[in-house]
Amino acid sequence: MRSRTVKKITLEGEGELRIKRKRGKVTIIRKEGFYLSPKMLNYMQIRTEGVFRPGQKDIEVVYALSGTHMKPDRLHTFASKLLLYDSNTEEAKVNVSDILSHVIDEPRKDTPELLIIVHTHPEGIPEPSEYDLEFFRSSEKAIKKEFPKMKVLYGVHAISGGDRPIGQKEPERVKLNTVKWSSITHEHEVSFYNSGGKTVEVVI
Ligand SMILES: [Zn+2]
Repeated sequence: MRSRTVKKITLEGEGELRIKRKRGKVTIIRKEGFYLSPKMLNYMQIRTEGVFRPGQKDIEVVYALSGTHMKPDRLHTFASKLLLYDSNTEEAKVNVSDILSHVIDEPRKDTPELLIIVHTHPEGIPEPSEYDLEFFRSSEKAIKKEFPKMKVLYGVHAISGGDRPIGQKEPERVKLNTVKWSSITHEHEVSFYNSGGKTVEVVI
């Protein structure tokens, strides 16, 4: 994955991230939005491709990104036992306290300011289902109870392919909240939302 040429990233006061590109262009992210680096996109690709099997829609993966206010810098993977797959709803049920203890136990100086819980939609679209929206609401509530200041967002990661080589495409922001790219073998499209299911800006 080719890296986008970012020269400098500065956090300006409360909730404004300024991204200066090498060519001089400046992108400013405000409010809920965040910056997703090429490194993080690469981690997300590796995490999801390793478990994807073509034609098997039911293998969902849950992972989380954490970091400072507007810039995730870690990807957390969870043991498969954390996922209680429910064949009736075709959704992964996730134990929020297990996710939290895992994220908090990671060796880092402080509790992360930002937590983005992502799950995959194998051979699907990156839009939350009714069940997902319910999960967004309830899990944010549970997280805020323990960590009132933590910013909690959600990602839906659609992944398909895997059975033959396809044309590789660099990551592109196709909507305000959606990044799309292709590896040699898989298509990826990831959208981000807040707990109310509203779109959240992502900058790459
Ligand atoms: Zn879902």
